[in-house]
Amino acid sequence: MNVQTIMVVGAGQMGSGIAQVAAQAGFRVYLNDVQQPFVERGLATIAKNLTRNVEKGKLSEDDKQAILSRITASTDLADAAEADFVIEAVTENMAVKSAIFSRLDEICPPHTILASNTSSLPITEIAAVTKRPEKVIGMHFMNPVPVMKLVEIIRGLQTADEVYQLTEDLSKQMGKVPVSVNDFPGFVSNRVLMPMLNEAIYCVYEGVATPEAIDEVMKLGMNHPMGPLQLADFIGLDTCLYIMEVLYEGFGDSKYRPCPLLRKYVKAGWLGKKSGRGFYVYN
Ligand code: NAD
Repeated sequence: MNVQTIMVVGAGQMGSGIAQVAAQAGFRVYLNDVQQPFVERGLATIAKNLTRNVEKGKLSEDDKQAILSRITASTDLADAAEADFVIEAVTENMAVKSAIFSRLDEICPPHTILASNTSSLPITEIAAVTKRPEKVIGMHFMNPVPVMKLVEIIRGLQTADEVYQLTEDLSKQMGKVPVSVNDFPGFVSNRVLMPMLNEAIYCVYEGVATPEAIDEVMKLGMNHPMGPLQLADFIGLDTCLYIMEVLYEGFGDSKYRPCPLLRKYVKAGWLGKKSGRGFYVYN
């Protein structure tokens, strides 16, 4: 199959980045969200990123305009009828994702592949709500998408080999490096990363050190480019909590229990950088 049109569902941090790299790779893109202002916020982020590249001399103004012209705003999932490949990047919640996959299965033509950018939820379970489980796959981009090279590609139990191959090729066309991973809670990236972020949050909760001190220890002592609390803020504390819940429930092991302080911040609406406040305050 020759992929020409991609729909990205969810125009948040990840969806806007995925739409950007897809349009940069020459694909026609629909960027979908539930409300027009959300789509516009995503498009504004893309325009800002591209303008920065023009200012740095990495991109011409003409190329920027051409990339933007390939992206169509959408608030109607029915636009997915024109897509050869759909990448879902909505909130990390199984009920929300299942409802979208079920509708996409009805809307899309039979050849369309349905991918999820989920950070942790089982691809096999998402696939099971469709009548095309062999065409459902995990395509886990890293944040910020235009910068980070990795895409974890997750096969569900029934994902077809040719669907895997096409997804791997598509990732490369988007300038990414695909890595194959099996369908276990948190895959590889978040099974290793999230317990470390959660432990850093426990260090704040128990008064071991301030967020600044914890981040300084991990940056200077472990050579991490970003401290774990800054990274948690950057990912989104709601997303971190969802992922810890998936690990906790998926493995049934108390070592994955989410820190109560993480729950408290999320309940307060302190979601990190995207809401203006998490472990740090953002303007
Ligand atoms: P976000 O909160 O920035 O964006 C989510 C978007 O989904 C919002 O704009 C919301 O309006 C939209 N949405 C919700 N329900 C919808 C629906 N029914 N139809 C269309 N749009 C809908 O979240 P994010 O950080 O972009 O994360 C999105 C997904 O990507 C999650 O599954 C998350 O686990 C995954 N992910 C996140 C990161 C990260 O670092 N933030 C990294 C990799 C993967």
